[in-house]
Formats: sequence, structure tokens, C-alpha cells
Amino acid sequence: MTGCMGSGGWRAGLAAIALLAGLAVAAVLKPDGVQAEGKTMRYAIAIHGGAGTITRASMTPEREKAYRAKLAEALEAGRAVLAAGGQALDAVEAAIVVMEDSPLFNAGKGAVFTADGRNELDASIMDGRTLNAGAVAAVRHVKNPIRLARQVMERSPHVLLAGEGAEVFAREVGVQLVPATYFWTERRWKQLMRIQNRKKGAGLLLDHDADHKYGTVGAVALDAAGNLAAGTSTGGLTNKAWGRIGDSPIIGAGTYASNASCAVSGTGQGEYFIRLTIAREVCALVEYRNLPLQQAADEVIQRKLKRLGGAGGVIALGRDGTIAFSFNTEGMYRGWLTSAEPEPHTAIYKP
Ligand code: ASP
Repeated sequence: MTGCMGSGGWRAGLAAIALLAGLAVAAVLKPDGVQAEGKTMRYAIAIHGGAGTITRASMTPEREKAYRAKLAEALEAGRAVLAAGGQALDAVEAAIVVMEDSPLFNAGKGAVFTADGRNELDASIMDGRTLNAGAVAAVRHVKNPIRLARQVMERSPHVLLAGEGAEVFAREVGVQLVPATYFWTERRWKQLMRIQNRKKGAGLLLDHDADHKYGTVGAVALDAAGNLAAGTSTGGLTNKAWGRIGDSPIIGAGTYASNASCAVSGTGQGEYFIRLTIAREVCALVEYRNLPLQQAADEVIQRKLKRLGGAGGVIALGRDGTIAFSFNTEGMYRGWLTSAEPEPHTAIYKP
């Protein structure tokens, strides 16, 4: 599936002129597909709550409502930052924290279990203005890994901290730690049990079946100053080996942001995203081949990822406020809003 709020050449020119004047002008595709051109746009945010085998048949109306409401709440949290003239980085963090605190998504509270019944969480964040980045991997007691990733970026000389060292650092910088039991949820435990019963004797397998919805969360934002940021947070894959680290904390794989091109957050089978450096690849196509954002995202997800046999999707945001979604799975929880179209839009299935 693809979906885009695109802008043509002359509009990109317009946007560049407007950016110089401190304003971004963009063409925005409304949910009904109508282009609302030339609107003054000061900010934009797009989020995802994971891609995977998400079909209408597998969803109850109540469940769908709950997902959409939480996505809208996350967008509102991002909007509150951006509308007040805040930084894209803060908007990304605020939106992700809302999803990390919800048991609906495979991040923070709702993180999935490793094969040996633990929760190990990964997250990263990147500033498109400076190319600074921070990430944490395999943390077990950090309530909001995205907050710790931000602290790694801003208060350590490193980009990625893992495991116990990351948690010692969390204590030092005052990021909230919780007992491991905080992450225990019945739904995720049952998912693990189902997979392990089904796969008895099959060795250690990653769960790519219908139970796994790649419920990772991510956000990309553009602020009024014209700066981009991206962030991603996850519990990884159900039944993963302990110590396994996915793409979400790997800069260039699950997350990338550069004001020179775009901001991207991904979700899907991390091993493929790492090997294809998915997030950076989308931005490289924009930067070096001048591809429109949607085309760049499709090239990477619909062609490269698919060809390699991987499943997943990305959200991407350009400096002119163009938003692109691309996924090769049945669905992807997603949402977006812009200052020109300020009400939160959410979607789940293929259109
Ligand atoms: N990409 C994540 C990982 O492999 C999983 C997901 O997106 O749900 O850890």
C-alpha cells in the first residue's frame, strides 16, 4: 500500500521560498484524496503503531476504536508541542511516549516477550538539523525507552547504549525505571505461549505469523523552524532470542532524519531493515536521486524489501511537509496531522 501527500516541482519551489521566509507551504492530500494547495503549513507530524497482518476480519469494532483513539491522542500530544512553536524532537518524543504508555502497542508497556519470557526494549531518536542521534537497546526496566534514547543523544558522548549500562545511565540522568513486572501483560504472554506451543521442536524462531503485528511505534515531525526529527520504539519480535537487537535502535535502519532529505521511522522484520538500511535508504533516494518522497519510500518497501522477502513499512516526512506511507503488509496503524489539516487522521488497513 502506498499513500501520499505529495507536492510537485513548482510547489517544491514555492515551499523553498516560503521556508526562507520562515513558513512552509505545501500541497496536502486530504483523506478524501483532494489536493488542498498553497496552504500555509508550519508543522506536520506522522506516526505509526506497527505494520503486519492487520485485517478487518481480525479486528473488532471496539479494538479498532481503541487503536484509533490512542493514535489520535499521540498525534495531539505531538501537535501540542508543534503548535506552540516547539521542536520536532519534542513532538516525536511526546507522541511516542503516549504509545509507549499504552498496552495496545508493542513498545513500552505493551512490549512483547522474548523466548525466555522477558521484555527487552529498543528505541532511537534522531535530530535532522544536527544529525545527532541517541538510542538504547535491550533495556528491561526503562518505562519510556524513547526518553532514554533522547538523553543518550543529549547527555552522553555516545549514540547507542545497551542493557545494564543503559540502565545505569538512566539512573544517572533521572529517567524513570520500573520493575520488570510493569511490562507483563496477559495479551503478550498468551501470544508467546501460542507461538511456543505451535513451534515446539522447531528451534528458536522469530514470530512472523498472524499473531505478530509488528506493533512497534514511531513518529516523524517537522517543526515551525523547518527542522525534521524521527523516533522509533519497540519491544522487538515475540519469541526473539534474549540479547537480540532489531532495527529500531539502529540509526539508518529503523530511524533516520536529516534536514537535507527527510525523516523516516520503520516497522517490520528488523533483520531485513538492518540489512537494507531502510530508513537511510529512503532518505538517500530523496537526497541523491531527487525522488519524490512517496516514490522513494515505495522503491525501498515495495521493491527492495519485498524482493529480499521482508515485510514491513515506513512513515516518511519531507522538509516541505510532504508525508508518505508505504507498507507491504496487510495493514499499518498510522496517523498524521498538519497545521493546514489540524484534525488527527488515522488509518489501519490497506486503502
Ligand atoms: N522492527 C521491530 C524489530 O524487528 C519489530 C516491529 O517493527 O514490530 O525489532
